[in-house]
Amino acid sequence: MEKHECVIIGTGPAGYTAAIYAARADLKPVVYTGLEPGGQLTTTTDVENFPGYPEGIMGPEMMEDLKKQAERFGTDVRFGMITKAELAEIPGEYHKLTVDENTEVLAKTVIIATGASAKYLGLESEKKFMGHGVSACAICDGFFFKGKNVVVVGGGDSAAEEATYLAKLCPKVTVLIRKDHWRASQIMENRVKNTPNIEVLYNTEAVEVLGDKTVTAIKVKNNQTEEESEIPADGFFLAIGHKPNTDIFKGQLEMDEVGYIQTKPGTVSTNYPGVFATGDAQDKVYRQAITAAGTGCMGALEAEKYLQEYAEEVESAQIET
Ligand code: NDP
Repeated sequence: MEKHECVIIGTGPAGYTAAIYAARADLKPVVYTGLEPGGQLTTTTDVENFPGYPEGIMGPEMMEDLKKQAERFGTDVRFGMITKAELAEIPGEYHKLTVDENTEVLAKTVIIATGASAKYLGLESEKKFMGHGVSACAICDGFFFKGKNVVVVGGGDSAAEEATYLAKLCPKVTVLIRKDHWRASQIMENRVKNTPNIEVLYNTEAVEVLGDKTVTAIKVKNNQTEEESEIPADGFFLAIGHKPNTDIFKGQLEMDEVGYIQTKPGTVSTNYPGVFATGDAQDKVYRQAITAAGTGCMGALEAEKYLQEYAEEVESAQIET
């Protein structure tokens, strides 16, 4: 069975940044890409808020750059999905990971960078306009809708936050809430209510995203009266929650009720020695490429420190005996 110092799971900004740092520290990292190599940014178009790209860059291109940078220092990037994780509780012991349900590899340190997936409604038309008017991140894509009207779906804190953010850029923001009330905290709800260019439609669901090459309107239905209507809009923002991709660690790593991995405050350490959680798998607040990259860096530095401390312990135990 292959033995590695450091295995990184996931290839978003967190995974590749962890790989760059781990490779430069000579940990010879092996990275497993997961089903969506490059992560969430491969489903967006222009990225304009990642420092270092004054003209912006296409999401897939940026991820390809990060991959090349990680490989330049010797990272072994492998296409594969970790389907099972058996984490060791004793410091210094190997963690066992199963790749694609058939191959097992051992890792002294594991950096989790499996990300989170935005939830979508599941409409065919929504898929068709992904990256061309349909988005699940107002901070990432809102700028492209400056001066245009948009629709936001959801009634939680994310929807309230995205709607108020978009209201600063767009003349009109319409929020669709499927219930007759908000789920968001009172303060967030009040913020929406105090923003004159946001209209909230309760008991309302999106039925279809309309348009030719780009979005032109949203067909909606009142779920009480079954009445359908169209809202002219250029953008359609989903804010109905995210799901962290952490199922394989359930029952081992400490998580919140949604599945976000809990780390020790100020670190990316988990409740297992040598296992570090980075990026959106542990962050439900910021969820940005740059913050994911930052925690990826922390994961590699902590892995390096852990391996160093363990090596020193083994060495001093050998001297004593
Ligand atoms: P939530 O799960 O809190 O809210 C999701 C919203 O989307 C609900 O209104 C839900 O409706 C609605 N929804 C879910 N599925 C569908 C669907 N298929 N069709 C229509 N509507 C749907 O997710 P959030 O992302 O808003 O928040 C996640 C966590 O992050 C929360 O704990 C939140 O407090 C926190 N957060 C905090 C922020 C802050 O403090 N600044 C900012 C953003 C998030 P229903 O109520 O009917 O289920």
